[in-house]
Amino acid sequence: VRMYTCGPTVYDNPHLGNLRAFIFQDILRRYLIYKGFRLKHVMNYTDVDDKTIRNALEAKVSLRDYTDRYIQAFETDCRLLNLETPEHRVRATDHIEDMSKMIQGLLEKGHAYEAGGSIYFRISSFPNYGRLSGIDVGGMRAGARVDVDEYNKENVRDFVLWKTGKQGEPCWDSPFGCGRPGWHIECSAMSMKYLGEQFDLHTGGTDLVFPHHENEIAQSEALTGKPFVKTWLHAEHLLLNGQKMSKSIGNLYTLWDIIKKGHKPAPVRYLLASVPYRKQLNFTFDALHQATQSVERLRNFQLRLITERFPAGEDTDLTRRAQETRKQFEEAMDDDLNTARALGAIFDLVREGNTGMDRSRFRQDNTKAFQETLDAWDRLFDILHDDPKRKQQEADLLAEISPAKTASDERVARAGMPATGMTNPGMTNSGMTNAEIDAQLKERESARQAGDFAKADRIRGALSKAGIVIEDTKAGARWKRM
Ligand code: AMP
Ligand code: ZN
Repeated sequence: VRMYTCGPTVYDNPHLGNLRAFIFQDILRRYLIYKGFRLKHVMNYTDVDDKTIRNALEAKVSLRDYTDRYIQAFETDCRLLNLETPEHRVRATDHIEDMSKMIQGLLEKGHAYEAGGSIYFRISSFPNYGRLSGIDVGGMRAGARVDVDEYNKENVRDFVLWKTGKQGEPCWDSPFGCGRPGWHIECSAMSMKYLGEQFDLHTGGTDLVFPHHENEIAQSEALTGKPFVKTWLHAEHLLLNGQKMSKSIGNLYTLWDIIKKGHKPAPVRYLLASVPYRKQLNFTFDALHQATQSVERLRNFQLRLITERFPAGEDTDLTRRAQETRKQFEEAMDDDLNTARALGAIFDLVREGNTGMDRSRFRQDNTKAFQETLDAWDRLFDILHDDPKRKQQEADLLAEISPAKTASDERVARAGMPATGMTNPGMTNSGMTNAEIDAQLKERESARQAGDFAKADRIRGALSKAGIVIEDTKAGARWKRM
């Protein structure tokens, strides 16, 4: 499968809306690999456009240095959220020559023209224009806003392929003079360079359908005469207070904003992945708390599977349920990546597993089938294995990007007070003494022996909220602080 993802415009930190679009493509790429496809996945960085240029000039640094910062910020977020790295991550400014070659081809074929030193795509030369978005091209005339730089265009619908250079702005040599590429041509040139003139999948957020992807199709198909992309997949928006999360309106949270409030990256990944990509999702902290609890629930079940000892033998019904669940979640994912249904299937299984364990129905030989199903599911969601290496990596990354590592943290440290910035009330260590924890554990043991599994579960849950994990071993229950 050859797949292209429109990457971030690197002029600022990504917000959760952007990250939703990238988590969606991560789930897609993981599922393709899961299904046995070989994948070549390309994602670009838009490191030249009006906004990157404007901000670099304001910051008085080169465009390269400015965009380097935000590429790094994006890649840090990707690592925190366990996003796999596409086979190629490519920068627009490293492909200017490929773009100018394409533009030259379009000029030669009569699909483009020069006006006022810039080059434009002639939409009237491409009858299929508007097919992806269903836009009414005729209607675009009325009320269309025209950039003051673009008053030379033959038609308001035409879009820019190459912008003539402006004094004081970065500019690249080309057969059409010094200037810079338009945004749309970037993606056509980079996708076709790495994936060929025709490829399978192209992803992005729904705001890219028009005009960005419509324009990509027009440029690419006008040049090659072949269908450009087989299937387009667009992620619906993440909303905040019912409005699209967006940089231009300013209603946004970055991942770092969320971490500073004491939340972990795994529940963020879980939350953004849990709603199918074609549905809008309204971000709330309540939903994030619920996601945190869901992640905990899955991890606790996983811990039970690993650490508890069950009676010998196998309950064949339970094994069959674990195998059926794997089929159910695959069917859900086959259905246009219905992640919500896939999650529902896993939670049903976890509930049955927990009940089976509490009622001694769950046997030692059931663990394999349950673990296999959980592992298969986690190949996509990737939130179960909070292994020490990954935890350390997360801590290192957080320390690296933490603005709180500056003055305020030092102030807190000098005053001998616990740092509050990174704690999440109710989820982290509450400061219970060892004796108190031992007492709770004894209480839980008595409840289990008396068959009061609901009470035992409540104690486990309360300890878990306080940051204490119980491990049931052959020698009895042990605990550790998270
Ligand atoms: P940008 O950095 O603005 O080029 O956007 C990068 C990606 O994020 C694009 O695929 C956008 O469609 C997507 N995007 C931007 N805002 C949102 C949002 N609120 N919800 C989901 N995706 C978004
Ligand atoms: Zn693009």
